[in-house]
Amino acid sequence: MMRSFEETAEAICAECGGRCCHEAHPPLSPARMEEFRARGVPLSVAEFAGYTRMKSHDDGMCILCRSGKCRVHAFKPETCVAGPFTFEVQDHTLRLFLKHESVCPLVPYLKADEIAYASQFRMAVRSLTALVRSLPANELDAINRIPEPETDLVAEILLEPRGAGTA
Ligand code: SF4
Ligand code: SF4
Repeated sequence: MMRSFEETAEAICAECGGRCCHEAHPPLSPARMEEFRARGVPLSVAEFAGYTRMKSHDDGMCILCRSGKCRVHAFKPETCVAGPFTFEVQDHTLRLFLKHESVCPLVPYLKADEIAYASQFRMAVRSLTALVRSLPANELDAINRIPEPETDLVAEILLEPRGAGTA
């Protein structure tokens, strides 16, 4: 029987061991912090380094990664939901990038599956738009300065001004 894309992705990520969780430091939006509080995740997992972000262990792995698995998968941070898409904001435009296959083995499978690609792209746009809207400008600036090597620009989406509606 053919595997679904989700099953394929799960197997690939398990084999990869969470490369994207190494030195990831995903931003933590106010909504995620509230979710953590409600679900009993200690807020000590967060630190401030120009923006509120997740800590890493000494070896660089995200503090919420255990044995290659995300301990908060069901409510993980917005940038983790969006992966392997990443982002920056320039001139009120959400710019989406897709990681190269060399840094994320899932990418070739995503590119080969039009429906899965479209679905993950929509999820990334929704999740990243919510993140961008929730962050103070100075924190967004700090995130924008983080280099995203080994990615390709795949879309540019004009953001509505804050308060003008939802994405
Ligand atoms: S880097 Fe790609 S393949 Fe590896 S765990 Fe992350 S999403 Fe999965
Ligand atoms: S929150 Fe989960 S998915 Fe995100 S970097 Fe940490 S372990 Fe990985």
